Amino acid sequence: MRALVLTQLGGPQQLRVLELPDPPAPSADQVLVRIRCAALNHLDLFLTEGVKGITLGFPHIVGTDGAGVVAAIGTGVDSIEVGDRVAINPGISCGVCPLCERGEEPYCRQFEILGEHRPGTAAELVLVPERNVEKIPDDMPWPTAAAFPLSTLTSWRMLKTRAQLTSGESVLIWGAGGGISVAALQIAKLLGARVIVTGSTDEKLERARELGADVTFNHAQHAPEAIARDVRKLTGAGVNVVVDTVGAKTWDASLKALCPGGRLVTCGATSGPEVGLDMRRLFWFQWSLLGSTMGTRQEFSEVMTEVRAGRLWPVVDSVVALEAGQHAYERMSRGEQFGKLVIEVSR
Ligand SMILES: [Zn+2]
Repeated sequence: MRALVLTQLGGPQQLRVLELPDPPAPSADQVLVRIRCAALNHLDLFLTEGVKGITLGFPHIVGTDGAGVVAAIGTGVDSIEVGDRVAINPGISCGVCPLCERGEEPYCRQFEILGEHRPGTAAELVLVPERNVEKIPDDMPWPTAAAFPLSTLTSWRMLKTRAQLTSGESVLIWGAGGGISVAALQIAKLLGARVIVTGSTDEKLERARELGADVTFNHAQHAPEAIARDVRKLTGAGVNVVVDTVGAKTWDASLKALCPGGRLVTCGATSGPEVGLDMRRLFWFQWSLLGSTMGTRQEFSEVMTEVRAGRLWPVVDSVVALEAGQHAYERMSRGEQFGKLVIEVSR
């Protein structure tokens, strides 16, 4: 099979398309998916330079998100048939520990992510557990199907389960353009919140308003602290929830923008992971600082329900061929995208 692989660490220029052996036949609880489209997430980009705690074997097949047609199933598989169109939940847990049995898969100590700890989705064939695939609507285009799993699932868990954002509350989302922030914007609107977003260009902010953003700030023109001040003026006491996946650059401003009792939720730190905290402000204002990663199988089903009903429709930035996969990485490294960067693996 053909696959987009990282041949060594050193950035997107180390990516190549190679011919590799097909995966083995599926074991009892597995399905083999013939991938049509894969999609990138920030961790795909970070991985090309190496990520602390993850040891890659080379060549390493990249790609976290994917969608395709089921090509083969294991003997114990009963919810999926050969020929089904599916999207893949890239978070793979052990499935048998007490946490997995309670449906708390992201807390599983064996939790792995496709394309990070395991071979990724930018390959013609990918082997995953049956519980990690969901059928998609017949009319859903392949790039759209590949675009939603990781970022929509992660944003769903962040806002709904962790931050418990409710109708009438306000939320600040930094950096509209990335997959997470765009999905968070869509989900926050779906939950009935007032949404404030920042973006690096007026074009991105225009796109954000089209998706329902109520207030936008250009963060290339205004410092995070100035935005936090304006957010406080706009909302009175500050926002109820901040989605901060930027980290070092925005952390202080995120806390300044938060109302007493507010919740800050994060699933990433694209500008750097080290931040400061004055504990007196934390307890005085009774903030909650919430970490979040991926989502449960139940949350993936909830996301699928919204997707199937057409209430959540992921935004695709662009689609490139497998051979041009490196260009998608470079576009992400320049921060030019609005929505998901998709790679067409096969037709
Ligand atoms: Zn487990």
